Amino acid sequence: MPSSRRSRRRPWGDEHVPLDLDRATGGRRTESAPDGDWTVQSVRGSDKSYVCPGCRQDVRPHTAHVVAWANDSMFGAASALEDRRHWHSACWAARSRRR
Ligand SMILES: [Zn+2]
Repeated sequence: MPSSRRSRRRPWGDEHVPLDLDRATGGRRTESAPDGDWTVQSVRGSDKSYVCPGCRQDVRPHTAHVVAWANDSMFGAASALEDRRHWHSACWAARSRRR
């Protein structure tokens, strides 16, 4: 059963995974949650806007927020990075408190 995720998988070290974290504030940390371990990176924002999974509202450009992705993706770290999500800092904190 082919999956779109599997077809995107690349061999280890084959290609640099582009990250729009160039404005990262350096605050990368790992948080444990009932659904696994997450890498959480604080960023200052970029020219793009994103939809926050927590509240379905836009994360406006140049707004400090967090980027989170699961550490334990069964498809590997590269795929997990591709699936990363941009959250309002407050929404991510609320998510952690809910669990
Ligand atoms: Zn939000």
